Amino acid sequence: MGNLIDFPASNPQNSDSRPTISLEEAYPDSANYVPSDEIAPEPVNIHPQEPTYDLKEISIKSGQGMMDILVNSGASRQDAYNAIKALSAHYDMKKLQVGQTLQAAYGSDGRLAELNMQKSFDHMIRVSRSETGFEATIEDLPFLKLTRHVQGVIDDSLFLSAYQEGLPNSVIVNMIRIFSFDVDFQREIRKGDSFEILYERKMSEDGRRVEEGNILFAKLTLRGKPVSLYRYQPQKGHFADYFHKNGKSAKKALMRTPIEGARLSSYYGKRKHPVLGYTRMHKGLDFSAPTGTPIMAAGDGVIERASRYGAYGNYVRIRHNGTYKTAYAHLSKYGRGIKSGKRVKQGQIIGYVGATGRVTGRHLHYEVFVNGKQVNPLRLKIPTGITLKGQDKQKFLTLAGDINNQIIAKKQNILLTWNQEIAMNSVDGGQEILRMPSP
Ligand SMILES: [Zn+2]
Repeated sequence: MGNLIDFPASNPQNSDSRPTISLEEAYPDSANYVPSDEIAPEPVNIHPQEPTYDLKEISIKSGQGMMDILVNSGASRQDAYNAIKALSAHYDMKKLQVGQTLQAAYGSDGRLAELNMQKSFDHMIRVSRSETGFEATIEDLPFLKLTRHVQGVIDDSLFLSAYQEGLPNSVIVNMIRIFSFDVDFQREIRKGDSFEILYERKMSEDGRRVEEGNILFAKLTLRGKPVSLYRYQPQKGHFADYFHKNGKSAKKALMRTPIEGARLSSYYGKRKHPVLGYTRMHKGLDFSAPTGTPIMAAGDGVIERASRYGAYGNYVRIRHNGTYKTAYAHLSKYGRGIKSGKRVKQGQIIGYVGATGRVTGRHLHYEVFVNGKQVNPLRLKIPTGITLKGQDKQKFLTLAGDINNQIIAKKQNILLTWNQEIAMNSVDGGQEILRMPSP
């Protein structure tokens, strides 16, 4: 049984008689295809002669099981049962959400022939009738990778202004995160400051599905002073990172505070222990914050311990390099996937504020170790991040140059379109010029 439902890159039903134009042929190297603008190319009709299948789009409604939905759309109970069974081998049916859609194809005999469901942005589950019942396969969905360039002047906040220029929330949040070591967003942003960004967007061939990708370049100009960051993956690094144009990483080795919106409630030093009553050394900082407040890894590193640790309660310790470690105590719970041996990124959530261990109330107890000994985090001269050298620096500078050229080309393109439109409008009397958007 071939594939009946018209998804791109599917194998045609009768491959011997029907023309086969695969999307790979239509768009050479489509995964890396970067068109000069954001307009998707015309879709290619890959199934010029559809066989007579009755295609139904079915959507999940609240209070209705998958079984009922399929039966209502025309499947026999036996077929519905087998198709769902095949589907659930690749998908946790409990994750089905109201409004989610599936495509069912019925043959001329009225029997369910195929059931398709999108699993993720670029994967689809295809359940087809087989000799024995139904079989499910996972297929890659082709997509185009575009780059978008957006810029604007900040009016109220970076968030609002960027949103008004068409940047999706997830990209704005990422942009703020990568600048968080260089810019204090509460205090340093002023009206008239500006931003500029180049980022990746994945788009399905039909333009219906969109997924935002990495930020390749971002620039903030604050009171006339530009800060530019470029994404680059160091040759020996585990993660791609952001670098200033001189090759210095945007990240500092350790963040000053591993938690946001918390109050420093106890300092490093001698104090009377609130529970035990005698004076002893308090070897960390306490941050008071509501239970459940996320705690971030202060720097890149490897989890050395993520388990109960006596008076510390639920405890995470990260080894950042040969010199530095940080520890986080009294957590209510651990971050997703946080366990010993796991590599973490700076800013990644490693746990949540709680009151486990020997405590009087919920707070984060935070320690910084230098060569195995706790030090006062507030006195710590925070080391700067890495600076690219040698081959890495050369590669980075080439990449940054490419990105700059890409942006120049995009700007020229916009300017060209703008000038053409002005010229056209001038012929019509020039009135429209006033309404043209500025480039
Ligand atoms: Zn403490």
